Amino acid sequence: MKDLDFICIGAGPSGLSLGALSSTVPGLKGKILERKSNFEWHGGMLIPDAKMQISYLKDLVTLVDATNPFSFVNYLSVNNRLYQFITANFGSVNREEYSDYLSWVLSSLDNVEQDTLVREVDYKNGWLEIETDKEKYRTNNLVLSTGLSPVIPEVFDDQLKVDKNSLFSSSEYMYKSHDFSGKTVSVIGSGQSGAEIFLDLINQKTNAPEKINWITESDNIFQLDDSPFVNEIFNPGFAEYFYNSSEEEKKQLLSTYNFANNGVSEQTLVEIYQSLYKERYIKKEAKTRSNLLIGHTLKKVYKDNKQYVLEMRTKEETKKITSDVVIFCTGYKYKTPSYLEKIKCLFNRDKDNFLINSDYSVNWKHQDECSVYIQNGAIHTHGLSDPNLSLSSRRSAIIINSIIGYDFYKDLNAHSFIF
Ligand SMILES: Cc1cc2nc3c(=O)[nH]c(=O)nc-3n(C[C@H](O)[C@H](O)[C@H](O)COP(=O)(O)OP(=O)(O)OC[C@H]3O[C@@H](n4cnc5c(N)ncnc54)[C@H](O)[C@@H]3O)c2cc1C
Repeated sequence: MKDLDFICIGAGPSGLSLGALSSTVPGLKGKILERKSNFEWHGGMLIPDAKMQISYLKDLVTLVDATNPFSFVNYLSVNNRLYQFITANFGSVNREEYSDYLSWVLSSLDNVEQDTLVREVDYKNGWLEIETDKEKYRTNNLVLSTGLSPVIPEVFDDQLKVDKNSLFSSSEYMYKSHDFSGKTVSVIGSGQSGAEIFLDLINQKTNAPEKINWITESDNIFQLDDSPFVNEIFNPGFAEYFYNSSEEEKKQLLSTYNFANNGVSEQTLVEIYQSLYKERYIKKEAKTRSNLLIGHTLKKVYKDNKQYVLEMRTKEETKKITSDVVIFCTGYKYKTPSYLEKIKCLFNRDKDNFLINSDYSVNWKHQDECSVYIQNGAIHTHGLSDPNLSLSSRRSAIIINSIIGYDFYKDLNAHSFIF
């Protein structure tokens, strides 16, 4: 059994940010355990040309330590393309390039164990024991960075035999066959993933679908609000303000700022609108090819012969359509990982959620001896920036300060015009 100052489970952006920022802390020894053997950032959604929704300066490290070697700018420099990057003048960085940046960080860190699945975490005699499919580790500081899971609504008929190639989540889109010729494809959900998949389908050049339905229960396709003052919710001040608000105020804030997190980027919306325009008025495709089914709540999915039947409810009526392929783009949610089975009963809860302290540690029975930190699972306590990349470097810095017991990273708050 190996003893370490910290163990981090998961090497997505959250785990890698912790790895990058801890690498410059003298004497701190930790490991990051990642189940995948080949890194890809949300590979199932690496649609060519899909863009980041945040500035590349909000990378894994820069906002808390602009001199850290694992910045996006240093990645460009090491890879000898700073001049070209500046000249190319992208409004937003391509997601494929960001994935490559993350992969570069991962391979440059010397403490990431890939191809290592964490199976179980247990508490024994003042230690947390972490069992993987290869080794056992012991630590007093565990950082959970295993991300969110895709949500698929429970609308299926009990008898439905799901064919995983024709009914799947957006998180698997790029792994599936894109031969849709002669088929009807239905995209459920009007967030960023649904929009990107709908756009990709309308513009597919070969083996394109015969018909595409974009189904959403909302009353329109709404834009992500990234206007300047609303964007201040992704500044440190808002995280503090949110944490110190009452439960009632927190609920209100989550609802008020919903469109700062859940909506479609302006660029994607414009591209979709232009594609629909070209399809209808320039290419003169059949009017029935692309259909926006707004205000349609999916109630039931079942199979009739080879097709899926989607039963939906609008304000006025119940409607049925058939589809060969159904893609759920219905969001992501924090789910308690199965490796916590043995200790989750020791975590203190507030209704459905774990109680989380301001330093992202879980409030639990043995917190005086061992700390368990959660990254990207604290929207209910730390607000809308938690599932977003904007403050992930700050969150890592707070966790590192808490692990080592002093402020290695200082001045983590910044001025805000609003909060
Ligand atoms: C398609 C997409 C695009 C996004 N784009 C943006 C954006 O532009 N800007 C923004 O701010 N946010 C964006 N987000 C939201 C968020 O920033 C990302 O989801 C981000 O990847 C979250 O990072 P994470 O490290 O917390 O989780 P993840 O990226 O999900 O990483 C978790 C890691 O843990 C590993 N893991 C899981 N279980 C185990 C286990 N038992 N043992 C070992 N390893 C395990 C997984 O393999 C994975 O590598 C996007 C989300 C999606 C889905």
